Amino acid sequence: MARYIGPVCRLCRREGMKLFLKGERCYTEKCGIEKRNVPPGQHARSRRQKVAGYGIQLREKQKVKRTYGVLESQFRRYFEAADRQKGITGELLLQSLECRLDNVIYRVGFSTSRAQARQLVRHGHFTINGKKVDIPSFRVRQGDAIGVRTSSVENATIKHAMEEVKGRGVPEWLTIEASGQSARVSSLPTREQINLPVQEQLIVELYSK
Ligand code: SF4
Repeated sequence: MARYIGPVCRLCRREGMKLFLKGERCYTEKCGIEKRNVPPGQHARSRRQKVAGYGIQLREKQKVKRTYGVLESQFRRYFEAADRQKGITGELLLQSLECRLDNVIYRVGFSTSRAQARQLVRHGHFTINGKKVDIPSFRVRQGDAIGVRTSSVENATIKHAMEEVKGRGVPEWLTIEASGQSARVSSLPTREQINLPVQEQLIVELYSK
């Protein structure tokens, strides 16, 4: 699956907010936003940044896309699937992105970033209900148990990540099991439980034109 491989702090600066794309670095003063919160580009400071209408909708879409690390065509497929379902399209869109396996791995603290989670999943370090799954976009369902494979329990990256993110908390819809090596999807995430400061309705308006 194709993915963005350019500089990532630039993406945060473009959106003017932390998207937490780099793991531990995002929580230090080395963070690109902490150091220089201006849009990227040579003339960024001098350009008048007047964004309205379409521009605002576009920025909201880019924030979500970049946060979850999905490219345009894949993002549109998520939107179309959400649009076909009954309910509030924007919320369903965020829910389906939040239920991606790479995001869940990040949320439960088995990785420091979604990008790292994606790589760990591809390398086959995790199971769903006891079966190895190596597809980052795999959608978890209510009741699923996500675990670190027995052969990966000593994996240095996973151990380091678990140590690093300790105390950062796990969303209410996920429950860490006693062993610390597995988690369960206790319910599907509601909008309130998805910690993402975006106006998803604007994305719906953008794609509904
Ligand atoms: Fe964004 Fe993280 Fe870079 Fe800060 S360190 S600008 S939050 S990717």
